[in-house]
Amino acid sequence: MDTRRDFLRKMAVASIALPILSIKHKSGNKNLQNHNGQVLRVAIMGLGGYASMVAEAMRDCKSAKLVGLISGTPSKIKNWQRKYGIAEKNCYNYENFDEVRNNPDIDAVYVITPNALHHDQVIRVANAGKQVICEKPMGISAKEGQEMVDACKKANVHLLVGYRMHFEAKTLEIIRMRNEGEFGKISFFQGLSGFVIGDPTQWRLNKALAGGGAMMDIGIYSVNGSRYMVGEEPIWVTAQETKTDLNKFKEGVDETIQFQMGFPSGAVASCLSTYNMNNLDRFFLNGMDGFAELQPSTGYGPIEGRTHKGPLTQPHITHQTVQMDEMAGIILKGKKPIVPVDGEEAVKDLKIIDAIYLAARTGTKVNLV
Ligand code: NAD
Repeated sequence: MDTRRDFLRKMAVASIALPILSIKHKSGNKNLQNHNGQVLRVAIMGLGGYASMVAEAMRDCKSAKLVGLISGTPSKIKNWQRKYGIAEKNCYNYENFDEVRNNPDIDAVYVITPNALHHDQVIRVANAGKQVICEKPMGISAKEGQEMVDACKKANVHLLVGYRMHFEAKTLEIIRMRNEGEFGKISFFQGLSGFVIGDPTQWRLNKALAGGGAMMDIGIYSVNGSRYMVGEEPIWVTAQETKTDLNKFKEGVDETIQFQMGFPSGAVASCLSTYNMNNLDRFFLNGMDGFAELQPSTGYGPIEGRTHKGPLTQPHITHQTVQMDEMAGIILKGKKPIVPVDGEEAVKDLKIIDAIYLAARTGTKVNLV
C-alpha cells in the first residue's frame, strides 16, 4: 500500500518531470510586468454557491489570494468584504468591472457566474488586461469558446478553466499508470455523471442562462473525463436523449443523455449525463492488462478508487486549494499542468458537446474529424 511518503515522493518526481518552461509571465502583459511572481491576486466574479467554496478553499492557498469581488448585490459584497478582509477599492459590480484595468492590485478575475454569461464576462476581463479563470462549461458552444480563446490571445492574457479534477491526486495516478502502460492497450471507458436536480426555477434549468441542461453542468465531467482517462481525442459520437419531465426540462434543457464515443486507437466510451438519477459519479477505465475505477470520480472528494493493483491511497486535498495554487504556478511561473486547463482544452469539450446535442437531435453518428 502507498504511504504518504510514497505519495509525496511521487508528486515531487511529477513536478520535477514537468518542465518549467519559463519563470516569467506571458511576455508583454503589462499587468504582470512588475509582479514579484509569488502570489496571484484574484478577484471573484459572481458570489454564489460555488464561489463561496472557492473562496473558503483559497484561505489555504500558498500562491493565490482572494483580493477582489465583483457582484450585482451590494449586501453580498459587504458580507464578503468583512469575511475575507477585502478592500473597498477592489470591489466592483457588473456595470463597472471593466475599471479593474486600472487596479494594479488585482492580477486575475475568476468568473463563477451562470454558464451563458461566461462568454461576454471573460471577454470583458481579457479586454481589461487581466488574467482570466473561468468556470466550466467555459461557454455554451464551441463557437463561443473559440471567441473567448481568441479574445484572450489577442489581449495576451491566460484563459484557464476550473477543471479541478485535472489536479486531483488519484486521477493523476491513473493517468500516470496509463501513460506507463500499466493497463495495456486501452479499450473502454465508462463515465456516469448525474444527480436529481431540485428547484425547477433555478438558472440551471433555464436555457438562456445554462445553455442546455445536465450535459452542460454535470455531463461535461464524463466528456472531459473520457479524454483524460483514455488519453485520446474522440473521433465520433452517437447520443440518445430521454425526457420524462417536460415541465422541469423545457425545450433545449436536456434531462438525460446517453452518449458513446470512438477514439482513434479503437477504444470506445459509453457515458450517461442526467439531472434525474442520483448516485451517478463513476468512471471506469478498462485496458487489456488492467483497469481503474473511481467512485466518486468528480465530486468534491474525497475521491475513492482502485485499480487492478489495489486501492488508490493518495490523500485528499481540497480540490479548489490545489487548483488555485497550481493555476497561480501556470500564470506566474509558466508551470505546465499534466492535463491542460486552458481555453483550448475547454473548446475541445464544447466541440464534443455540440456534437452530442447534434447526434441526439438527428439520431446520426457525428464525426468529429
Ligand atoms: P449559483 O447560482 O450558486 O451562483 C451564481 C452566481 O451568479 C450568483 O451569485 C448570482 O447572483 C450570480 N449571477 C450573476 N448574474 C446572474 C444572472 N443573470 N442570473 C443568475 N445569477 C446571476 O451557481 P454556482 O453553482 O455557483 O455556479 C456558477 C458557475 O460555477 C457555473 O458555471 C457552474 O457550472 C460552475 N460550477 C462549477 C463547479 C466545479 O466543481 N467546478 C461546481 C459548481 C458550479
